[in-house]
Amino acid sequence: MKREVVVVGAGVVGVALAHTLSERDGVTVTVLDQCVQEPLGSTAFAPGFVGVYNDVPVLTRLARDSAAVYDAAGVGFRRSGGLEVATSDAGVAEIESRVESARAKGLRAELLGPADLPASVTAFVDTSNVLAAGHFPDDGSADVQVLTLGLKTQAIERGARFLPSQRVTGINPHGTGAVVTTESGDRFAADDIVLAGGIWGPTLASLVGLDLPLFPVAHPYVYDSAATVWDDGPFVRWPEHHVYSRIHGDRLGIGSYDHRPVPVEQGELASGAGLQWSTDFGPVIESAQRLLRPEVRFAPESRVNGVFAMTPDNLPFLGRLTESESVWMAQAIWVTHAAGAAVMLTEAMFEGSELPGELRVSRFEGTSSDVLDERAMRLYRDIYANDSQ
Ligand SMILES: Cc1cc2nc3c(=O)[nH]c(=O)nc-3n(C[C@H](O)[C@H](O)[C@H](O)COP(=O)(O)OP(=O)(O)OC[C@H]3O[C@@H](n4cnc5c(N)ncnc54)[C@H](O)[C@@H]3O)c2cc1C
Repeated sequence: MKREVVVVGAGVVGVALAHTLSERDGVTVTVLDQCVQEPLGSTAFAPGFVGVYNDVPVLTRLARDSAAVYDAAGVGFRRSGGLEVATSDAGVAEIESRVESARAKGLRAELLGPADLPASVTAFVDTSNVLAAGHFPDDGSADVQVLTLGLKTQAIERGARFLPSQRVTGINPHGTGAVVTTESGDRFAADDIVLAGGIWGPTLASLVGLDLPLFPVAHPYVYDSAATVWDDGPFVRWPEHHVYSRIHGDRLGIGSYDHRPVPVEQGELASGAGLQWSTDFGPVIESAQRLLRPEVRFAPESRVNGVFAMTPDNLPFLGRLTESESVWMAQAIWVTHAAGAAVMLTEAMFEGSELPGELRVSRFEGTSSDVLDERAMRLYRDIYANDSQ
């Protein structure tokens, strides 16, 4: 008898799960998504930084393993390297310490002076205030939709099936009779159910009686028009300014965390993770662009107000629900960590390996939702400052 695994959600996490699960013999994988055609979750909007070194060891492990899967898949991912730019003495000290820590973990990292920056970077970064930069050659840049489609195609070739227009509205998690039901009235029997609903995580968790402290937030990212021929170079971040930027083929993109967090309710997600542009983000992006060379600053041709998931400690939820033998969760996971998380969860499901305690779904039990919400929002601005992702 084959083991039936039903994954809810076909964003990068659900797809990475299908990719890993379908490598195993004796497993049938079905991925259900509420979207009619291509999924419209956070995955559709991510500009694709994959930073391998993280001050939190479990995130370094997940990123390293993810990048290895993306390398092997051979589509939509390249080891572009990542560059962290410092414009103050304190910023230089922080980067020096991160370079040292990354090296201690066996990753490649070096400190560059302003004169050492590659031409692909000085083409758009204003170097007049740059004191130093940390270069992390193992980091990568993903074209996230291309990468996700590549992983999905490989999973389908190995037998996984993906069913669109299947909004999950019921989960009966009990023992051998575990079953997932959808709005259209279909029923899917499962030995294991994996919730990979991203920002819709709280709604999915409520189907199994769980109050999940996962908090969606809105985030601005903009693209220039396709007017310039750029050289591909590293993904650039300015941790002191909470700003990041990259070249997307013939377009320049820039995003910023330097604003008050904007929480998003479940009821606002009916059309997906892409919201209407907020005029509040205009000045945020304008200010971010001061870090670019004056001649490349641009009036955005396309603007993303995209929603992603925050947690009270900026770590994913990865593991089995304590309330149930058959329901697992892989939510609040970045592209950076998705494939590594899928490998880790699959090993726990099939080999019984222990999952890291710090990712346990129930780790915030006993703390009020308001406190957790406030903690999560406090962490937003520092996502690319303390490298919590
Ligand atoms: C603007 C922006 C910038 C970002 N930048 C980066 C970055 O540079 N690097 C990085 O690593 N990450 C980045 N992220 C975060 C990253 O995009 C997400 O963490 C990641 O894509 C989440 O993937 P997911 O599969 O969990 O969720 P999603 O992509 O949201 O997929 C979840 C899927 O579940 C489906 N679903 C939900 N509920 C149900 C249901 N009841 N029934 C059926 N289907 C359901 C949804 O339709 C959706 O398709 C960014 C995100 C945004 C928005």
